[in-house]
Amino acid sequence: MTRPRRVLLLGGTSEARQLADELRDAGVDTVLSLAGRTVSATEIDSRGSVSVRVGGFGGSTGLARFIDDHEITAMVCATHPFAAIMPYNADAACRATQTPLIRMLRPPWIPVPRDRWTEVPSLSFAPAALIALGSRKVLLTTGRQELAPFCQQDEIDFVVRSIDPADLTGFARATSILGRGPFTVDGEIQLMREHEIDTIVSKNSGGTATAAKLVAARRLGIHVVMVGRPDSPGTPTVSNVPAVLAWIAAQARSE
Ligand code: NAP
Repeated sequence: MTRPRRVLLLGGTSEARQLADELRDAGVDTVLSLAGRTVSATEIDSRGSVSVRVGGFGGSTGLARFIDDHEITAMVCATHPFAAIMPYNADAACRATQTPLIRMLRPPWIPVPRDRWTEVPSLSFAPAALIALGSRKVLLTTGRQELAPFCQQDEIDFVVRSIDPADLTGFARATSILGRGPFTVDGEIQLMREHEIDTIVSKNSGGTATAAKLVAARRLGIHVVMVGRPDSPGTPTVSNVPAVLAWIAAQARSE
């Protein structure tokens, strides 16, 4: 592979990790940047040609400064589909510094026959959807940092699944369970039966690592309140690692 001088990879997803591994194997000088939201994120070591930095840059101007200071020649935004701010910061910083940028974004999940989805445009609409469905035992898989919209729903028993323990202050009835994908369909069915779940709340993250809950919900006839994605900037976007690698090789040839 022809190598660009230095790539900044904005991570926080499993495919960003895969991409980092591919870039390391190809000997591409890469800086992997993580926000540091999960405890385990801070445990990642720099490996070979991939160095890891953790924490925010200080908005788009801080990111532009980082690009200049570290002589970044290409950038990949591989943040999560629900990371609402960083893709805009990346777009603005790359425009300001004239740095080539590509976004890697998984396709969203699409409902199939027998799915019982209620689609809502954002998380703040999910509590009303739960009331409309008459939900009583709800599995929340939307992350421990966005629980506030649900904590006033005293008539619902929540099971909150997150990577790190959730703070359940404000909930009348809630249980925290820990889990990090990939999950299996059998495991998800067992979990939903054990907790007598009638509804799941999920972000439409897409991908395979957490899709098993949707298959399990379909088989058990369980409702899914599916939260739509935030808006995106107009950054050129691809959906997978090989497409990013091809783009990076093309950037290197034009450097
Ligand atoms: P966000 O709203 O887009 O970003 C908030 C702030 O966090 C940014 O302004 C930036 O701070 C910092 N940040 C975000 N991603 C960063 C990165 N890769 N490297 C350095 N700083 C970063 O994102 P978020 O929803 O808080 O998510 C934070 C991280 O968790 C992202 O990397 C995302 O991929 C991952 N994640 C998010 C979700 C989700 O549902 N939101 C789910 C799984 C994983 P500064 O402005 O100071 O630079």
